[in-house]
Amino acid sequence: MSVKVWTEEELNKVSAELEGGEPQEALKWAADNFERDDLSLACSFGPEDVALVDMLVKIKPDARIFYLDTDLLFKESLDVRDRLIEKYGINPERFAPEMTLAQMEQEYGPELWKSAPDKCCGIRKMVPLGEALSGLKAWVTGIRRDQAPTRANAPVVSWDTKFNLVKINPLVRWTSEDVCDYIKANDIPYNVLHDRNYPSIGCEPCTNPVKPGEDPRAGRWAGKEKTECGLHK
Ligand code: SF4
Repeated sequence: MSVKVWTEEELNKVSAELEGGEPQEALKWAADNFERDDLSLACSFGPEDVALVDMLVKIKPDARIFYLDTDLLFKESLDVRDRLIEKYGINPERFAPEMTLAQMEQEYGPELWKSAPDKCCGIRKMVPLGEALSGLKAWVTGIRRDQAPTRANAPVVSWDTKFNLVKINPLVRWTSEDVCDYIKANDIPYNVLHDRNYPSIGCEPCTNPVKPGEDPRAGRWAGKEKTECGLHK
């Protein structure tokens, strides 16, 4: 396969063509147009990501998958990783911060996630994400348009100006119910915390359960203005 350089115009055209299709069509396009080593799925073990693991592995069994381990993930999230490995035989690549929690506390004081969550996300998520994406030509994410106003216009395929590679969002048009239905229909491992009122799960110190009727992301950085890690802005 020759290495193609995609222009913004071409990506817009591809995105428009994939807009009305099933998520698998976007994944098939990605698998057909990027070498195995140039493409990776970002997996945080949330419902969208486990659904994408299932879809992608069925299209490309040896597809690359990576996750960010902030050292502050729920044990239940790591259990999902282990169950996915067992079910699909995948080998997700782990990217973690260089700075240990003890070093972070020594440098910035205790519980940086409370005093300066942007700084904490920068150290524990953004730097490892940059490492995960360096050298790739495309990445796949599980973002959906109805998750947050910041995601309302997310295209299926676009040029990621922040990290300089192609970004593929196969699930943009799906609702949370669509994702749940797919998980159930395909018997995909998912985080047991979702059954305990945690619709959106990140790091343990920054994730709370939500009350009935609350915004599904209300439990993330509750009480703070922060709504995104910065991964998708
Ligand atoms: S989600 Fe919270 S604990 Fe995790 S990296 Fe961001 S601020 Fe730190």
